[in-house]
Amino acid sequence: MGIGIAIDGPSGSGKSTIAKAIAARLGFVHIDTGAMYRAVALRTHRAEINWDDEAAIASALDGIDIDITYENGTQRIFLNGEDVTQAVRTAEMGVGASKVSPHLAVRKKLISLQRGLAKSRNVVMDGRDIGTVVLSNAPIKIFLTASLEARVARRCHELSAMGLAHNPAEIAAQIEKRDFDDSVKNKVLFRAEDAVTVDTSNMGIDEVVAAILKIAKEKGVLDV
Ligand code: C5P
Repeated sequence: MGIGIAIDGPSGSGKSTIAKAIAARLGFVHIDTGAMYRAVALRTHRAEINWDDEAAIASALDGIDIDITYENGTQRIFLNGEDVTQAVRTAEMGVGASKVSPHLAVRKKLISLQRGLAKSRNVVMDGRDIGTVVLSNAPIKIFLTASLEARVARRCHELSAMGLAHNPAEIAAQIEKRDFDDSVKNKVLFRAEDAVTVDTSNMGIDEVVAAILKIAKEKGVLDV
């Protein structure tokens, strides 16, 4: 087993950006687990399966092959051989991911895939249940939070950078709904008891990275 750094938190808290930066800094592999749930949503959407239809989704899972590769340190996600890195980033696939993610068969498949990826390498893995379930023995667990305002601004910026149209009020409503669904309705987002909470609302990327590396150093896990 390699060293695992688990980063969890709600939608838009900056998990993937921070996880990617920390991985680059330490020479670890970054694994964005949200992209995997999004890939399941994309595949089932294309097969015209209703995201609420747990039985149909469970039986479609055998035909879903998700593969992760790295290009200049950036994760690329392949769905049955097709590069869907960009296709899974839409707001619609975010909603779909949130709908398919509570289905037990989906979680089982993706958790096992994620554990396999972490088995023989050092990883920075981000998601909702990494510190509590996927890498419950990780020596470093971070729970990232940020105000709704900061999270909306970040998501709008991300969508603009990809040339995708968006409306801030709609994004805010989507993020609030996602928070409710992930934490209350579907119970996929948990803060591990031994996680350190970092509120990134008023912090830049470098500051958050430095804060997390400091936590790692204080825990004596990394010599950084
Ligand atoms: O992080 P991202 O917005 O890409 O995640 C999309 C959705 O996938 C989340 O809202 C959540 O429902 C689900 N997810 C999950 N467990 C993870 C990562 C994501 O249930 N480890």
